[in-house]
Amino acid sequence: MPSKMILEARINEYAMRDQNPHVPWTPDEIADTAARCREAGASIVHFHARNPDGSPSHEFEVYAEIIRKIRARCDILVHPTLGWFANDDDPDGRIRCVTQLAADPATRPDIAPIDTGSVNLDSWDAQAGRFEHAERVYMNRTDTLERYAREFKRVGIKPQLVTWAVGFTRRAAAMIEMGLIEQPAYFLVNMTDGPCLTGHPGTPDGLDAHLRFLPAGVRCEWSSNVVGGNLLALAQMSARLGGHIAPGIGDYAYPELDCPPNEQIVRIAADIARQEGREIATPDDARALLGLPAKSNPV
Ligand code: ZN
Repeated sequence: MPSKMILEARINEYAMRDQNPHVPWTPDEIADTAARCREAGASIVHFHARNPDGSPSHEFEVYAEIIRKIRARCDILVHPTLGWFANDDDPDGRIRCVTQLAADPATRPDIAPIDTGSVNLDSWDAQAGRFEHAERVYMNRTDTLERYAREFKRVGIKPQLVTWAVGFTRRAAAMIEMGLIEQPAYFLVNMTDGPCLTGHPGTPDGLDAHLRFLPAGVRCEWSSNVVGGNLLALAQMSARLGGHIAPGIGDYAYPELDCPPNEQIVRIAADIARQEGREIATPDDARALLGLPAKSNPV
């Protein structure tokens, strides 16, 4: 009997509305989207707090408001970003919001991300033949990663190990071996398409190359994701291989589907999973699969 499949909705990232008008920004929009994605089959929601004009918000109060509003509407597991804006100049500052949220069980995130390496985040403009944002680096020093893992353990947040390439996975495996990350480990297998050249391509080969190097002898779960590409093309493969999936319009606008809202992408992914014989995980199922405490955070 295959395990149930976790659908993690990645609803907004830093996406603007020029490509897909359904990107949620405000706390109410994010909470409504989370509830609709929950109905469509998602058991985890990953979000970035945004200002009313779409710019990133880094305010603790906004994150707290979002989490309270999500939990007032549904039982979906809550997974806020750390944000990459601080770029490692101030490692403690980068997780201050998350650790502050964790101080109150009502706002404690269930999951938070740790990207286990550093990447260039330029955009390749193939038509013009040049890089945009050539200065952009998403830096995650190893001592910072160790610090985050210790801190998440202390405050009771499950880390999602975001791997952009095999070297990230190997570093994550070492951190598991060090005892910094509890098993089962939860990997987000990140691929990149379109203007972002940094990850494995969002193709069966790109996913396969990731999966071949997941740590042996370690209990882990993985979700697939494609930044800048159609993840639904890998939904069937992810379902067949026993993985999970992290769809949403935060990473890709889905113009080939007329730029739909998040819940529609989640619903399609859920349908594909069911066709492959995978039941869809509820939030409680996801807790059990990922080794989170069975008890929901109080609303
Ligand atoms: Zn994110």
